[in-house]
Formats: sequence, structure tokens, C-alpha cells
Amino acid sequence: MAVVNNASLFSTLNKAQTQAVSSNASTVAILAGPGSGKTHTLTSRVVWLVDHVGYQPCDVLVATFTVKAAREMRERIGKALGGGREKKIVLGTFHSIARRYLATYGQRIGLDPKFGIADDSDSRAAKAWISKKKARGTVDDAPTNSKTGKDVESKAFMTCFAEYQQHLERANLLDYDDLLLRCVELLRRYPSCVSNIQSVLIDEYQDTNGVQYELMRLFAQERRRITIVGDPDQSIYGWRSAEIRNLFRFLRDYHGTEEISLEENYRSSSSILDVSLRVIQQDKDRYEKVLLPVHNKGTRPVLRRLKNQMDEADWIVSEIKRAKAMSGGIIKEDDVAILLRSAILSRHVESALGKNGIPYKMIGGFKFYERTEVKVVLDYLRIIHQPDNNDALARIINVPKRGIGDATVKSLLEEAERGSTSLWKLLVKHCRGDRNAKTTIRKQTEQKISGELLKMINNLRTKWVEADQGKGFDLVELIEQLLKDLGFEKHLEDTYGDEYESRWSNVQEFVALAAEFMKDPKPYGRGRSAGYCRRGTGLEWPMVFIPAVYKGSIPHIRSDDDAEERRLLYVAMTRAQALLYLSCPLYGSHTSNDALQLSPFVEDLSATQFLKRGPSFERPIMQEVARILRRELPPEDAIYKGMAYMTPIEDNLFPDPTEAKETGEVISWSLF
Ligand code: ATP
Ligand code: MG
Repeated sequence: MAVVNNASLFSTLNKAQTQAVSSNASTVAILAGPGSGKTHTLTSRVVWLVDHVGYQPCDVLVATFTVKAAREMRERIGKALGGGREKKIVLGTFHSIARRYLATYGQRIGLDPKFGIADDSDSRAAKAWISKKKARGTVDDAPTNSKTGKDVESKAFMTCFAEYQQHLERANLLDYDDLLLRCVELLRRYPSCVSNIQSVLIDEYQDTNGVQYELMRLFAQERRRITIVGDPDQSIYGWRSAEIRNLFRFLRDYHGTEEISLEENYRSSSSILDVSLRVIQQDKDRYEKVLLPVHNKGTRPVLRRLKNQMDEADWIVSEIKRAKAMSGGIIKEDDVAILLRSAILSRHVESALGKNGIPYKMIGGFKFYERTEVKVVLDYLRIIHQPDNNDALARIINVPKRGIGDATVKSLLEEAERGSTSLWKLLVKHCRGDRNAKTTIRKQTEQKISGELLKMINNLRTKWVEADQGKGFDLVELIEQLLKDLGFEKHLEDTYGDEYESRWSNVQEFVALAAEFMKDPKPYGRGRSAGYCRRGTGLEWPMVFIPAVYKGSIPHIRSDDDAEERRLLYVAMTRAQALLYLSCPLYGSHTSNDALQLSPFVEDLSATQFLKRGPSFERPIMQEVARILRRELPPEDAIYKGMAYMTPIEDNLFPDPTEAKETGEVISWSLF
């Protein structure tokens, strides 16, 4: 019997949060602004349901939208629940939960239990394959009675779609959408798969789309107990058809839902909150709600103009150093987040950080799993799990280099397709000498394929299979052995030169994520593919930088939804606890002489709401910062004593190109 310690659970909750956590209503909806403790309330409710109401952890299902957020939640619940009981909770992204149900029960709807996950490049491969078929006239041969051009187009599209699906089926792959759709099918036909579920809780509900809504409904079909928390202002998946309408749909479908609003912001200083609200309030069609700061004013956010992107990156580094020094070390590197609208912006920032020896972790959101080095590892894992995955094998057959060119791979793939076999089987046959060579493979290459690739994968597969008998590798050991066998670090060094360290750290981050996946309860924990990390929600940092606040970056040039772009900026700004810096270079690339324009989302606020330079870190300001962060500021003399020679005290190393030329500017350095 669990020890119920309500006092400590409730000591961290305000009145509205307490009401939400301990509500007896079957359905509860918490709609509130950023930093108001929604995730905190949701995780506390999970603890309440297990410890007080008495549900078994494995009968509670918690879904959110990113791997990172899921990981954070499991940690928060683990701390409060104790005894490692959080591991039993069915907790993850919608995709990962769907994947786990399909892995366990998918056979009931005709799925091969060893299905793999198709990534974007699989669909690209499929599309290329479809266009090849089209070129041969297969699609045009499709019977058509249509009269209008549109019909012909949609028929052709349907044929392409059918072929794409067949391609996935042959390779035993599900794409991201299939995961959700097939899980819906499973739970509709076999409700017993989720009949144990006592309660369903959804974080970041604003990002739920139609299929996810249906999944949520199905997860909870036995007892209809659901808690949702969300913030319409943070909905950023419009392009993936997330629908704010789903909020209203929920209230309509679940009568008697207890609606609770949380109105205090515990995260940010009141000036950060104030400016963020001014940004979002430019959107006139929003669901307005109250959000009051708990913290004092703190220091005003900064909107800094710089000459170019290089200066911008160097300035960020100098501000990090300055804050670290002037705070006496209570702000450290891992308190800082630099939030980039798109991956392309990372180049200058990464190089400035690298040059200055500032350790950093690149968390690329969605892009993380798209990074070449991570994809290679994923592809190897796919093949270990499922050797007939032609697309994956074709991508890595020559990574690291084994002397097999694109033309040979293509020709081998075609040969395999003609013989209705897989590339893997073809290679095995070839290396055994049972194949009449149609595509020539050089002797040296053949040795590498048979002696290195096939052998290594077979060995690893054996170890993976033996894990069930307790003899083999778990996922992390498997990946580590794979990296060793491949000489992957050396491969990255040879391929990327200077850039290799950040690439290698991505691979290590991937191993760390795999370790997280391993913490999932069996039978779900085995063989999961990597997750769907799209943004780091639920996160907060003492010091946040948002560079490149210019038109074309935010709103992004390829986006046609300004309101959504504004929400993105709002989400980014509201991650900051004590120090928030926006910046905008005057010029972008070397190739363009056109000045960049400040983002329209901050243009009108720029003159009054922001500081033009980083704040002077005087004692009272630093005391405020420390209070917001609930940290102890060292005494003033200790701060100055600990300061390195020539540490900049003010933000005045970089000229502001919009200011009139300053004469005789005093540059203050620390000379202690
Ligand atoms: P977001 O909208 O960004 O997802 P959120 O509403 O989920 O934010 P949380 O991440 O749960 O907010 O909480 C924000 C911060 O406020 C956290 O540091 C949390 O510990 C703190 N917090 C939440 N509730 C309280 C409270 N009652 N007392 C003190 N701190 C709190
Ligand atoms: Mg949250």
C-alpha cells in the first residue's frame, strides 16, 4: 500500500491547481497560459490518481507531443511518486503510445509484429519509385472514365497513394500517419486492448488533431475519464491540422466537464510576461485569458540590433559570459537556451560557441532525427531489426565508405525488385556465391560487404535476439556496439573535420534518448523506434536568446500563417524566467546588400518595451534575478574577486548599427 502524503503533494499547488488535481469529475479541462503550472498540475494529478484514488500506474495513460516533454513528465512524476512506479505508467507521445499498442496487439488487425517505421526519406524513396512507374506508363494505364482534368489528377493521385501504401506494406513499414490510424482501427475493433485504462491525461492538448482526438477518445472508451490541459495561444501545429476547434469539441462531447483556469504565471519575471503578452495580444481572434505574474518586474527584455549575423553570434556569447560573471556563477551555461526559428540559423551561433569553448547541446527538435549522423544509426538499427528494409539498407550500404557507388546500389535494387526478393537477401546470396552476377561488385567491395557489413549486422541481431534470454544486448548496448563496430566516431572525424564534435555529440544524445526509451515498461519497451521530437515544450530556462527576429525568419518566409508564427515567437519568449534577449542583425548573408527588417511582431514595441542593450547587472537587478530563480546571490566582493581579467561589465562591445555613430564611447572592463 502506498504511503499517501497529500500534504507534500499539495504544498506545491495553489488553490485552483489543488482543485484540478483532486477533482472528482470524470472529465477535467484546464485551459491556461504559459508557465501557469499546467504540466505541474497534470503530473500532480497523476500522482493523486495513483496514490490517493488507488489506480495502478499501468492503468493510467498520459500522452503529450514531444519525446522531450514526455521524458520531463516521467521524471517529474517519478520524483513525486517514488519507488520507480512511474515506469509502469503508459506515458509517451501519441505516436509512441500508438506504436507500443500496435507492437503488442497489432497482429489482431493483420500487422506483422516486426513492422518498422518509415521516415520521410522512405516516403521520398517511395515517391521516386512511383514516378518511375509513372514514367513506364503504369499509372496512365489505370482505367479512367473521368471527364474533367481534376478527376484525372485525383485518380492519378489515388493510384500513387495506393502504390505508396503497397510499397510500405511490402517493406512492412508504417509511416507516422499510419501509426495513429492503425491504432485507431485496432482500438475500435478491439476495445479490450485498453479496457484496463482508468484515466487518460493529455498535456499540450491544443496541439491535438482529429486523429489524436479520436485516439484519446478510444483510449478512454471504457471509463471516459479524461483530463486535458492546454493553451490555445501555444497551438503551433496548424500546418499539421491541429485544430483549436478540438477544444470546443471536447466540451461538447464530454458534458459535465469541470473547467478550471490557472491564472498565475510562476515562470517569468513580470516584464518578460508583459512583453510576451503584448506580442500575442496583437492577434485579435484569440481565446483571451487572465495571466498574472507571481514574480516581480525583474529586468526588461532586450531587443538588440547588430551589424551582421557573425556579430550577433559573438554578442550572444559575450552576453552569456557577462551574465555568468556578473551573477557570480548562479547563471551557468546550462541555464541558457538559444531558440532558433530554423536550423539554418545555427551555423554562426554554433561556431561562436565552439570558438569560445562554451559547451552546448544542439537539440534540433524535429530536425534532430533528420540529422545525417543520427539517421545513419537509425538506419542500421532498422536493418538489424528488419533486414528486408531495402530503403534503409540502400542508404547505409556505403556509409562508412565500402566502395559501392550509387549506380551499383540502384542496379542491385532493381535486380532485387525483378527477382521479388530484398536487397539484403540478394547480397547474402551473392556473398555465398549462389548468384549469377547481373550487377558486378568488385572483389574488394564484396569482401567489405560480406566480412564487415553482413557479418556485423548478423552478430548484432543475434545479440539483440538473445536479449530475451537475458544473454544479449539491450538497446543501448546494441547501439554502443554498433558505433564501435562501425568505427563511427572516426568515420565522422574523417568525413566532417572540424564539425565532427557536434555531430558526435548528436549521436551521444541519441544514445541518451535510447536509454530513456529503455525505461519504458515491457512489453512496450522493446524495439521502439526513435521518437518525434518537434519542440521542447514544457521547458524553461533562466536566460533565453531568440536571434534572427527579422521578417522572413519570424514570420518565416515560407509560412502563410502569421498568427501561427506569432504564437511561435510567443511560445519562445515565454520560456524565459529571468533574462530574455531578442536580436536582429542588420544584414544577413554576404551575398545580399539588402537590410533585414525587424519582425513586424515586435516592431511597434521596439521603442518602448525593450532595452536596446543588455541590462546593467547592478546589484538590485541581480538580486531580482536570483529571487526569480530561487537561488542565492553571492556577496558583491566575492563576485568581483572571482571575475576573470578583462570581463566585459556592460553590453558595449558591439556597435548598434541603427544608432548614430557614437563618439568616445566608454568601454568598461573588469580590471580585477
Ligand atoms: P507551458 O504552458 O509552458 O507548458 P505550464 O503551464 O505547463 O507551462 P509548468 O511547466 O507546469 O507550466 O510550470 C512552470 C513553472 O512554474 C515550473 O517551474 C513550476 O515548477 C512552477 N510552478 C507551477 N506551479 C507552481 C506553484 N503553485 N508554486 C510555485 N511554482 C509553481
Ligand atoms: Mg506545460
